[in-house]
Amino acid sequence: MAKQLFIKTYGCQMNVYDSTRMADTLAPLGYAVTDRPEDADLVILNTCHIREKASEKVFSELGRLRKLKQAKAASGAPMLIGVAGCVAQAEGEEIVRRAPQVDLVFGPQTYHRLPEMVRRALGPEAGRPVLDTEFPTESKFDHLPEEAAPQGAAGFLSIQEGCDKFCTFCVVPYTRGAEFSRSAAEIVAEAERMVAAGTVEITLLGQNVNAYHGEAETGAAATWGLGRLIRRLARIEGLRRLRYTTSHPADMDAELIEAHGAVAELMPYLHLPVQSGSDRILAAMNRRHGAEDYLDIVARLRRARPDLALSSDFIVGFPGETDQDFAQTLRLVTEVGFAQAYSFKYSPRPGTPAAGQPDQVPETVKDERLAMLQTLLNEQQQAFNRASVGRVVEVLFERAGRGPDQLVGRSPHMQAVHAAAPRALLGRLVPVEIEAGHANSLAGRVVDGRAAASSGGRPDSALADAQGGIAAGAGR
Ligand code: SAM
Ligand code: SF4
Repeated sequence: MAKQLFIKTYGCQMNVYDSTRMADTLAPLGYAVTDRPEDADLVILNTCHIREKASEKVFSELGRLRKLKQAKAASGAPMLIGVAGCVAQAEGEEIVRRAPQVDLVFGPQTYHRLPEMVRRALGPEAGRPVLDTEFPTESKFDHLPEEAAPQGAAGFLSIQEGCDKFCTFCVVPYTRGAEFSRSAAEIVAEAERMVAAGTVEITLLGQNVNAYHGEAETGAAATWGLGRLIRRLARIEGLRRLRYTTSHPADMDAELIEAHGAVAELMPYLHLPVQSGSDRILAAMNRRHGAEDYLDIVARLRRARPDLALSSDFIVGFPGETDQDFAQTLRLVTEVGFAQAYSFKYSPRPGTPAAGQPDQVPETVKDERLAMLQTLLNEQQQAFNRASVGRVVEVLFERAGRGPDQLVGRSPHMQAVHAAAPRALLGRLVPVEIEAGHANSLAGRVVDGRAAASSGGRPDSALADAQGGIAAGAGR
C-alpha cells in the first residue's frame, strides 16, 4: 500500500512550488500525497522565516505534531516529521534541540536529497535527526525528477532562486542563498510538460524573478533576461496566460516593460513591491531606487500596457521611519493607485543589518501606521473591484466554490471571481459578466460568446480571447 505524505506549506508561492517538487521526489519511494496529517507516514512542514510570526507558527505546529506522533506510535503506526524551508535553513540546530520529535531538517536547496534522507531516517539513523542545510554546489534542479504531478489549470514554475540584493530588513539572501537562474531550455521543457498535463496559466517564480539571467535556449554563449524568456514561453501552444512574481523595481528593464505591451499572454497585473515612499527609508533599506524611480517605472509600464493593474508590498515602522517618511508612503500609494497590496509591520530578523539599528519604531506607532495604510489600500482595492462591474472578463476557473454549482477562478487582473457554472468549465477560460465587486472578490455570471457580444457590458480586451478559449478548452 502507498505510504502517505502530508505537506503543510507556509509563506510564499516559491514554497508552494517547492512543496509540489518535494512530493515529486518522494513519489518513486511510494509516497502519495494526503490532506489528512493523521493518515500520514511522513509529515513535512515547509516553513517561512520572513517575519517573526511566520517562524513562531512552526514551533506551535511541531507541538501538535509531537502529540500526533506519540498517538500514532502507540497504535503501531510510526510517523516521520520533517521541517523544510527557510526556518529549517536559519534555525536547523535550534529545531533539533527544541523539538526532538523531528526526524528530518533540510533547507530550500537540499530537498532533492529527500529520498536519501528518508532512507537514513528509517534505517541506520532512526531516532536521530537527519540535518541537511548545506548550500550544495550542484543545483537541485539538475536532480529533481522530470515527472511531476499535474498542478491543475494554473501552475507555478520556479525559474530563479535566491537573492544578492541584501535589503537590510530581509532574511532571504541568508536562507535561500545566492541568486541563481535556471537555463531557458530547462524552463521551456518544464513549461511544455506542464501544458501537456493541462496547465493553461503559468506563474514564473523567483525571489527576485526579474533579475533572471539564464543561459539562452540556443547555446551557452548568451543569457536571456525575463522579457526574452516570456516571449519564448508565450509561443508554447496551449499556454494561454503568463504571470511572474516577485519582481524588484531595480530589475525592471526595457525589454521586460516592452513585453507587457507586446505579449498578449502576459496578464495585465504586476506585483511590484516598493516597501516605502520615502527616499531616506528606501536608501536605509538598500532598495537601490527612489520613489520617483518607482513612479517612472509605473508610468512606463502603463504606457506599454494601459490596463495594467498593480500590486505591491509595504513595510511600515522600518527603523528610523518618521511621520514625514510615512506620509510619503501614503502619497505614493495615492499617486499610483493599487489594485491590491500586502502591508506588514517591520519585524526585526536576527542577523539582518536593520535588526541591530538603535532607532526601532515602537509597536504602537507601527500599529497606527499599518491601520492607516491598510485603510487607504483597501479603499483602492474596493474601487478597483467596483470598476469591474458591468464588464465581461475572461476567468480561468480553478476550483469549486462554496455554493453548489459555483466555481471560482481568476480574472486577468488576479481578482477572485465567483460564478454559478457547471464543473465542466473547471480549467477553462470563460467570459464572465461581473455583477458585483466586493472587498476581496467579484461575483458574476457566465456568458456565452453570442450573449456576451450583445450584453451591453463593456467587453475588455480579453473577451475575444475568452471566446476562443471556450472552444479551445472544449477540445482539450
Ligand atoms: N523579493 C521581493 C522584493 O524585493 O520585493 C520580496 C520578497 S519577501 C519574501 C516578501 C515581502 O515580505 C517583502 O516585499 C517585504 O514587504 C516583506 N518583508 C520582508 N522582510 C520583512 C521584515 N523583516 N519585516 C516585515 N516585512 C518584511
Ligand atoms: Fe529580500 Fe527581495 Fe530584498 Fe532580495 S530583493 S533581499 S528577497 S526583499
